[in-house]
Amino acid sequence: MTTVRQARKLVLSLLLLPALCAHANPGNGVAIAIHGGAGTISRAEMTAEREAAFRAKLTEAVTAGHQVLIEGGDGVDAVRTAINILEDSPLFNAGKGAVFTAAGTNELDASVMDGATRNAGAVAGVKHIRNPIDLAISVMNDSKHVMLSGDGAEAFAREQGFEMIDPSYFYTEHRWKALEKAREGERDAAASLAEPPKQTFFSTVGAVALDANGDLAAGTSTGGMTNKRWGRIGDSPVIGAGTFADNASCAVSATGHGEFFIRWVVAYDICQRVAHGASMTEAAGTVINDVLVEAGGTGGVISLDANGDIAMPFNTEGMYRASIDTDGKLYVGIYGDE
Ligand code: ASP
Repeated sequence: MTTVRQARKLVLSLLLLPALCAHANPGNGVAIAIHGGAGTISRAEMTAEREAAFRAKLTEAVTAGHQVLIEGGDGVDAVRTAINILEDSPLFNAGKGAVFTAAGTNELDASVMDGATRNAGAVAGVKHIRNPIDLAISVMNDSKHVMLSGDGAEAFAREQGFEMIDPSYFYTEHRWKALEKAREGERDAAASLAEPPKQTFFSTVGAVALDANGDLAAGTSTGGMTNKRWGRIGDSPVIGAGTFADNASCAVSATGHGEFFIRWVVAYDICQRVAHGASMTEAAGTVINDVLVEAGGTGGVISLDANGDIAMPFNTEGMYRASIDTDGKLYVGIYGDE
């Protein structure tokens, strides 16, 4: 399938050659940004060891994704490479270390979008897939659909040769304690639906990339929200809300209170502002710090446009984030003042 996809891209590139020549990606500069979630991240509650572990894992993931781009790999492969490293780490709420549902299970969501073709793939509520971003990419490349959910998504995964793993793989003590804390604080099911979730629950992962062809890509992977029930799905697998990429505007991956990101169509709104002339920084900053704040939605995004401009705004205390820009400059940040 990769070959078919590459052939399709080649034909598209040839057809678009005049436009690509005018493409604003001087020197074929590649760029990548990643996040590991936004929320209440205070220095006071962070140990030096834990902070060092976060910074090291963010650096490892962004560097690995960047290496794919340097070697001529496409944006989707860079996104997959970076996200796989974050999914495999117990530090983040995706893959290993995903949060628990009210039933004590892990239900994972992921999505990906290819800015060159506007192809996209997503999975929601899967329970036996080690790296949900890989399944989202397979939905994009190997099916006629964009979004598959639950048992059906896993039936598709089996057909594609994915290993079905035992859910005990996702367990971490840290997330189990978070569920117990959430249960204690919950008065009844109706109250838990009405109350806004604590910001500490956010730690989805995501990546956006600009490859040497000037193609953008975005991907997001998450366990969703602690104590979620009724098959709740957030913004992460929803194209336009938690993930969006289009070469004509930008690539975005979000993290935060998903219900707001869905209703305010955050990723698409940011890219539409870029399409209508706003800079990457203005577009992402306005949506996160003005529109969402006014709406009462907390969270942040990583975003990247076709010039390689990166913006990573958040309206929470911190967001785990890292980037390597078109000059090859590495940035890693956690708190709001760095
Ligand atoms: N946006 C995710 C969701 O609502 C949560 C997060 O970013 O941590 O499922």
